[in-house]
Amino acid sequence: MSTENKQIKEVIINEEFSDLLRKNKLKITQPRLRVLEIISEKTSALSQPELEKIVGKDIDRVTLYRILGSFEEKGILHKVFDLNGTATYAICSTKCSAHHHHDQHIHFICSVCNSVYCLDEVSVPKINIPKNFSLHSIAINAVGLCDQCNNAE
Ligand SMILES: [Zn+2]
Ligand SMILES: [Zn+2]
Ligand SMILES: [Zn+2]
Repeated sequence: MSTENKQIKEVIINEEFSDLLRKNKLKITQPRLRVLEIISEKTSALSQPELEKIVGKDIDRVTLYRILGSFEEKGILHKVFDLNGTATYAICSTKCSAHHHHDQHIHFICSVCNSVYCLDEVSVPKINIPKNFSLHSIAINAVGLCDQCNNAE
């Protein structure tokens, strides 16, 4: 890809993310755009320590923590716990809105590298809950080997 094409692509992506922030009434800041860019580039979900490693000194820990919190609250990101119980973050489907997540899909977690993947096309089954219980969310994880770990065998 030529430098010019690459620049055009970056502008388009930035505009998309700026729109997303605007739509969610969040101020457009470089750290917010950067976090969106990093998470959307990855096929697997990212934990805060992993994000910290990627952003380095560009975004301090507290700012990053607040960004993730506000993105989750606005329905931009959803949280998934990996096999160690560490929170990882993945981009939400466009159906999510503030305080209303609709990420009713199964997550695949690799038992070797602990990577978390959204299986967007696999929806969770309808679950009958006891009378007078109310359901807020369902978390179903499929555990196995990801393609990379499978190839490393
Ligand atoms: Zn969501
Ligand atoms: Zn793996
Ligand atoms: Zn997901």
